[in-house]
Amino acid sequence: MEGFVRKPVFDIGIDKTIERLDQQKIKRAIERVLNEEATVRFKIFLETCMRCGMCSESCHHYLSHDRDPSYAPASKVKLTLGDLVAKKGKIEKADLKRYARIAFTECNLCRRCTQFCPFGIDIAYLISLVRRLCGVLGVAPQFIQDQVYSHMSSYNMLWFKQDEWIDTIQWIEDELRYEIKNARIPLGKKDADILLLIHGLEAKYMTPLLSNMLKIMLVSGVDFTLPDTDGWDYTNKSLYMHDFETMTLVTKRHYEIASKLRVKRILITECGHAYRAALYESARLLGWKEAPIPFIHAVEFFYEILTQGKIKIAHKVKEKATLQDPCNIVRYRGLGQKLRFIVRELCEDFVEMTPNQEYNYCCSSGGGMVDAGPPWKGARIEGGKVKIEQIKETGASLVIAPCHTCHKGIEDLIEHYKVEAHVKFLADLIAEHMEIPERLRP
Ligand code: SF4
Ligand code: SF4
Repeated sequence: MEGFVRKPVFDIGIDKTIERLDQQKIKRAIERVLNEEATVRFKIFLETCMRCGMCSESCHHYLSHDRDPSYAPASKVKLTLGDLVAKKGKIEKADLKRYARIAFTECNLCRRCTQFCPFGIDIAYLISLVRRLCGVLGVAPQFIQDQVYSHMSSYNMLWFKQDEWIDTIQWIEDELRYEIKNARIPLGKKDADILLLIHGLEAKYMTPLLSNMLKIMLVSGVDFTLPDTDGWDYTNKSLYMHDFETMTLVTKRHYEIASKLRVKRILITECGHAYRAALYESARLLGWKEAPIPFIHAVEFFYEILTQGKIKIAHKVKEKATLQDPCNIVRYRGLGQKLRFIVRELCEDFVEMTPNQEYNYCCSSGGGMVDAGPPWKGARIEGGKVKIEQIKETGASLVIAPCHTCHKGIEDLIEHYKVEAHVKFLADLIAEHMEIPERLRP
C-alpha cells in the first residue's frame, strides 16, 4: 500500500496462519467482528475523524520514526479499518498481514493520542477491533498465541504445573526464614483479608522479586493468602489478541478462587495490563458494572501500608531516580499521585520525566509488544526512541518501573541505546530499604 514501507519481518503466527486462510473464513470473521460485535463507537469514530493530525505528535511511534506519516494514529486507523471499510470487506491476504503488523506492533493501545483529539476519538479502541479481527482468525504473533494457549490449558502463561507452583512457594518460604523469624506463606487459607495473585514470570524466572513482595507482606503483618490451585497467575495475555473468551475464563477463575476462599480483596503485584484486564475489560465483558470483589494494584497496597505505618523505610535510596508512569495504571486508572507518594518516601533525589503522569509516553513495549517476542524486538526498540530521550534528559541512573512490561521494555532500551541507568520494581526497592522490626528478626 502506498506510503506504508516496512522491513519484512517473518512471524509464523502471522505469516503461516494467513497462508492457510480462505476468503470465506476472512469474510465471516469481518462480519462477526464489525457487524455483530463492534459497538456504534466504531462507525462514529471512523466518520468523525477529519484527519486534522492533532493526534500525530502525541504518538511515540510517529515521533520515534522521524514523523513518518504512516505511524500517525489516524493513519494507522486509515491503513487498517479505513481500508477494510473502503474495500467493503473484500480484502487480500496482504491487507490482512498489514493490519496485523500495525495493530500488534505499531500501536501499544496506550491511549495517549485520545487526549489530544478534539473529538476524543479512541484510536486504541479502533486498533483493538483490528486485533480482535486478527485474533478471531488466529492471526497474531506466535509468542502471544503461545502464552494465550498456555492460559487456556493451565491458567498461567508459562505452562507451569500445579506441583511446581506449590514447590516454588515452599522453597521461597524456606529462604525467607533466614530473614524473617518463622516466615509462613499461606496457600489456600480461608477468610484472609487479601488474596495475592502474581505474574507468571515471578514464579518461574523472577523468584527474587516474588520473594521481596512476600517479605513486604510478612513485615506489614497483613492477613493474606495465595491460591493453592491453578489460577494464581494474573497475566491475562489474551487481552492482547482481544480473545474475549479466554480473557473472561481467566478472570472468572480469579474471582471464583477469591470467592471460594472468602477473601475481602484481591491484590496483584506490579503489572499494568493485568490490572486493566481483570478490573475493567473482563469485568465489562462479564456484564459486571463493578468487579464483585475489590481488586487492587501493588501501588495501592504499598501506599496503604506506608500511610498506615505498617512498614517504615529505614534508609532512603541515594541515587538520582526517575519514574515511569505505566499507562494502564496511571492514564487509565489515575494512580499517579499514590505512586509519587511511594517514590518520595523511598528516594532522596527524585526527578520527574517530562511529560509525566497521564501525559507520559508509553515505554513502547506495552499492549503486548514485548510479548510479541524476538521477531518484533526491533519495532519496540525503534518506537522507544522518545522514551529513552525522556530518560536521558532526567539524568537519573535509576528508573522505577512498577509494571513488568515497562520494566522489561525500558531495560531493553537502556541496553540498546547504551544509557548509564538501571531499572527497578517498587517491591525490590521497598524490600531492600524497609525496616525489619526486631521481633521479626530470626
Ligand atoms: S486528532 Fe482526532 S480527528 Fe484529528 S486526525 Fe487525530 S483522530 Fe482524527
Ligand atoms: S501507540 Fe498510543 S499514542 Fe500511538 S496510536 Fe496507539 S494508542 Fe495512540
